[in-house]
Amino acid sequence: MVITKAMLDLALDQAEGRRVTGITLQVGEISSVVPGSVEIFFKHFSKDTLAEGAKLHFEVLPLEMACRDCGEVFDLSPLKGVGPHAKMERAFVQGCRCGGNNLDVVGGIGLELKSIDVDEDSGQAGGGEIGSGQTLGDQPDDLEIR
Ligand SMILES: [Zn+2]
Repeated sequence: MVITKAMLDLALDQAEGRRVTGITLQVGEISSVVPGSVEIFFKHFSKDTLAEGAKLHFEVLPLEMACRDCGEVFDLSPLKGVGPHAKMERAFVQGCRCGGNNLDVVGGIGLELKSIDVDEDSGQAGGGEIGSGQTLGDQPDDLEIR
């Protein structure tokens, strides 16, 4: 599972030589990623790396749809409790307020690395440059793994 390996590499990269104790991942609501198998692959790939034994945390990235014609982003939250695929279907049936039906899925797909937890006392990175917080990489869109 290439995506798990890429995610691990990214986490190790961010840890800069420190031990990784936890990794938070965002899994798209309609992604085909199965957390259980990510964990199995992770265990396999992380063996003998600084991320061995790290805990994986999964968060759901909600489905997001937008209109290609007018750019409006759909508010799908009223459909809480409805499955993601049913949500998509309803959005398509309903169409956009602008009258168009040129909808696109813009969020809730794939797997993203949200943050990692590191052991500040480990490694020889010197520490200090990311402050006292243990969470890295809050902002990055460029961390997205496809
Ligand atoms: Zn529209």
